[in-house]
Amino acid sequence: MDWKSHAVIGAVASLAAAYLLGVHDILGLGFFLVFGGLAALVPDLDHDASKGRQILDMVAIGFAGSTAYMSGCGNGLCIPPIEKISGMVTALLAMVGIYFLFFKFFKPKHRGITHTLVATAVFGAILSFLTGFTVAIVGAVGYFSHLVADQHIKLV
Ligand SMILES: [Zn+2]
Repeated sequence: MDWKSHAVIGAVASLAAAYLLGVHDILGLGFFLVFGGLAALVPDLDHDASKGRQILDMVAIGFAGSTAYMSGCGNGLCIPPIEKISGMVTALLAMVGIYFLFFKFFKPKHRGITHTLVATAVFGAILSFLTGFTVAIVGAVGYFSHLVADQHIKLV
């Protein structure tokens, strides 16, 4: 399945999850639509270098950016207070740094560790640590939709 299909499936699943979690404003739903679409692409960051690589790098940076943004807001959209900005920038740099180090130097095999229930749980746990409950659940739903679409669901 190509990345576009994954993004669409993840976006729809995340939209439904956000709605069920009580997000009913258009702006919030729009954000979670995009966020869920990005989250659904995260499992395939283990792809070999290919023409999709630049897209995935952009996804990683976009995903880190939106997560960093939410880390300043907690559980929804906001204009982050100025004193949260340095923490948000730190979160962004940490995520981008981990991404490049992990995937450039310790590249897991495709459909390996990132395509597991444990990875989904870790992904949700990191999001809940950085942001809040709603973002974590919606992100985990987007991520999990990828494994379902791949029909590749393993525990570890
Ligand atoms: Zn995949």
